[in-house]
Amino acid sequence: MPEREIIDCHIHPGVDAASAASWFIGVGDPSEQIATLRRAGIHRACGAPIQVMQPDSFAPIRRLNDQALALRDRFPEFYIPGIQVHPRFPEESCAEIERCCGGEGVRWIGELVGYLMGFGEEYASRNAVKIFREAARFGAVINFHCASLDVIERACRAVPEAQFVLAHPGGGREEFLTRIALVARLSNLHLDISGSGIDRYGILRKAIDVAGKEKLLFGTDYPINNPAVYVQGALFERLSEEEYAALFHGNFRRLTGIAGEGSGG
Ligand SMILES: [Zn+2]
Repeated sequence: MPEREIIDCHIHPGVDAASAASWFIGVGDPSEQIATLRRAGIHRACGAPIQVMQPDSFAPIRRLNDQALALRDRFPEFYIPGIQVHPRFPEESCAEIERCCGGEGVRWIGELVGYLMGFGEEYASRNAVKIFREAARFGAVINFHCASLDVIERACRAVPEAQFVLAHPGGGREEFLTRIALVARLSNLHLDISGSGIDRYGILRKAIDVAGKEKLLFGTDYPINNPAVYVQGALFERLSEEEYAALFHGNFRRLTGIAGEGSGG
């Protein structure tokens, strides 16, 4: 295994025009996207394609999941698939978890982005809870985008057997401090460092001091964000080797059960 293996838990692969998430420039086909991530120093990456939608059926969501599985089959040494589910379609979502997590071995759900995919912050509703229980049954981790502390806490408490990864520390000082305090308080809540926050000097040191090194996961939100910013920003903080190992791959592997090459387990 390479030294300081870096797994990015939060990308959105662009597989076609609809799922291309880059804001300003084209990022090319999936092989070019992987080359870009490798150029930033990232060894593997995980996450679901996203698409702006107000779906009236589950079909467009299943299509994203089929694309994720196809990408995994094309780049098995690099891409770790994440799938989408949708609280407006609880039966279909549970069946999809059975198909992808049960049948295909997928261990990651999300990033779920309700504000883009037509369910707002519906992460703690009856339907969402039903779906997350099914995810937990298959040992799948749930990565989600949510601004409401109340919703985050209710989801985590409603499904204590599920492991949740909240996306983004947040760029505001109070915003970050309240989010990391919640991560510290809820045993099944973790935080990925993608999005705003990494440019705040010392934010990873603070996050680990408050919540513990086992609560942070490395993520970039590529191709919305420049992946090198996260690699270099993380490396510039003087974390211990144990803290880097946990951040860069250890916590991801522990939560998903996806073993490393040569790790013997
Ligand atoms: Zn994202």
